[in-house]
Amino acid sequence: MSRKRDSGQWRARDGLGIRGGGLRAPWAAALGSLLRPLLVVLLVFAADGSAGPPVSAGLAAPPAFRPCALRAAPGLQMSEGFPAVRSSDYAHSTGGVRALVLFIDFSDAPADESPSARYAEFFPAVQQWYARASYGRLHYHPVPVLRYFRMPRPFSSYGIERGYGWPVHRAMMRDLVKVVGHAVDFRGYDMVNIIATPNAGPPADETVVSVTWTGGNAATTADGTRLNRVSVIYGHDQAGYRVLVHENGHLLGLPDLYSMSDFSRTDTLAGQWDSMSLDWGLQGDFFAWHKWRLGWLSDSQVGCVVGAAAVKQVKAADPPGQIFHLAPLETPGGRKAVVVPYGRATAYVAEVRRPLGNDVQACSQGVLIYRVRTDVETGDGPISVVNAHPSTQACQFSSDSFNSLNRAPFGTGGRFTDSSAGIEIDVLGKDPEGGWTVQVKRR
Ligand SMILES: [Zn+2]
Repeated sequence: MSRKRDSGQWRARDGLGIRGGGLRAPWAAALGSLLRPLLVVLLVFAADGSAGPPVSAGLAAPPAFRPCALRAAPGLQMSEGFPAVRSSDYAHSTGGVRALVLFIDFSDAPADESPSARYAEFFPAVQQWYARASYGRLHYHPVPVLRYFRMPRPFSSYGIERGYGWPVHRAMMRDLVKVVGHAVDFRGYDMVNIIATPNAGPPADETVVSVTWTGGNAATTADGTRLNRVSVIYGHDQAGYRVLVHENGHLLGLPDLYSMSDFSRTDTLAGQWDSMSLDWGLQGDFFAWHKWRLGWLSDSQVGCVVGAAAVKQVKAADPPGQIFHLAPLETPGGRKAVVVPYGRATAYVAEVRRPLGNDVQACSQGVLIYRVRTDVETGDGPISVVNAHPSTQACQFSSDSFNSLNRAPFGTGGRFTDSSAGIEIDVLGKDPEGGWTVQVKRR
């Protein structure tokens, strides 16, 4: 990641295509970035006509023994909630994950660097990032095939552009399968990363077209494997290897946190506090909420404070007024977050962020508080960070934009109040071990 390259430019990420629950055709919500603060979202049904509207069964209440693990809202492409049933659309997020890595080029964009050099742009950085983020719970095993497969048609003929849709992806994957033939054994992988030669398409500082698709089978390989969890990476991205961290995050089930419809709004949502928001941001780790959903945090590492009305029925919850010692999110061990749910689909989360690990470039530290909504769609702002210092911008990183939340964490004496939800979170002080102590009150 270069701070110089991105000066004055607005950057966004990729896109995502998903649809679970046995539908054969995925939704595709794909987008790229552009220099102007205007983004287009494409919601595309696959052209094979096999998809119907999503089945809605109503938002199930979280189980009493996990009252803070809010259930995923039905009918969304991708909810921030916990699914009632694990979806095969996503790769498992703990244990070993095997990622096949293929390289492609085109007759009008022949590879201009070796596959080894292209591979080295992403690995071992990506697996090291995931090892840190998951506290060693996700073992990412990339398996590269170090040659370029020449696509049968020129790049210009595919219609690959920002926000390209499922039909383009499917055509590409079907061509790729033909070109690869039996040269690659696709069996036994959890995901496939396809990395295009960086000279194919527009420079990534003009537009980002990298994309991830899951939930639909784009093509079937010669050995009978379905290409249904695929990230495709283009260009040299200012995010560096983290573009692949972001894309693979979708394959694990995480939504986009930036605003697809109004990219500038990202500055008031998650800002630079999660790689699913701005993957080039200073604070690049995943939120504790994401880590809990992915199984990288155990329930015992997440405090849970329910409202007074529910406290009698929910034995698993912590009592209101309890003091929590929160350890830094970036390092293993300890209590990492407190979740304070209200309503069926909303919760506040408090966690401690410090300039360590995947947040090593963080420009501020303290108790970060954010609101999670499980009924808000990917790309529409399911997570909003509470800004403890709303009148300041910190660390004018990369551009004049998207810095508003960089000083969002609360310090000692900080108090967050949502009076309508009856929630108060007080930051009592810093621990000698590097964590912070908070007290959660609610009525
Ligand atoms: Zn994305």
